[in-house]
Amino acid sequence: MDTLRFFTGMFRSLRTFILRREVEIVGQCHMCGKCCQDIVIQDQGNWLTSKRKFKKICEQEPEYERFRILGRDGKGHLLFGCKLQNEDGTCSCHEDRLSLCRNYPSKSIYYQGAWIEPECGYRFKSIKFRDVFTRKKPLRAPRFSKVLDQEIEQAEKKR
Ligand code: SF4
Ligand code: SF4
Repeated sequence: MDTLRFFTGMFRSLRTFILRREVEIVGQCHMCGKCCQDIVIQDQGNWLTSKRKFKKICEQEPEYERFRILGRDGKGHLLFGCKLQNEDGTCSCHEDRLSLCRNYPSKSIYYQGAWIEPECGYRFKSIKFRDVFTRKKPLRAPRFSKVLDQEIEQAEKKR
């Protein structure tokens, strides 16, 4: 994991903890097929860089044989294409696609400090510190049960 991504992920996790606001994934898929190209694959929390390791994964989980190595990105991570993608970018096995395809984009991408491709119809929506400080967003609203308890307590005091 590169340093910028590591610290971005740390910062996002910390901010979520402090503000008690989970990131949301908003938008919708417009089936551009971009997320099926130049894919990076994780193995035990790290992006794959070793062809040998990929071969081993395929031996253990043959469904990964659908991916073919296209090259590497600037950081040495292996980039994959998918043999099951149709020419128009759609998936030829949509019902049986892998969980990594089904779950894209997942919140874990956000907490790992990565970004969604700009062409994608989804985006991350998060509450920033400045939203709270400028009171655009309140710090998490109190739970209804807590509000109810306070109301009952006040009503009893007035008796
Ligand atoms: S299995 Fe389908 S959704 Fe997954 S990468 Fe291949 S074409 Fe895309
Ligand atoms: S990149 Fe986003 S919009 Fe395009 S196919 Fe993937 S999920 Fe859908």
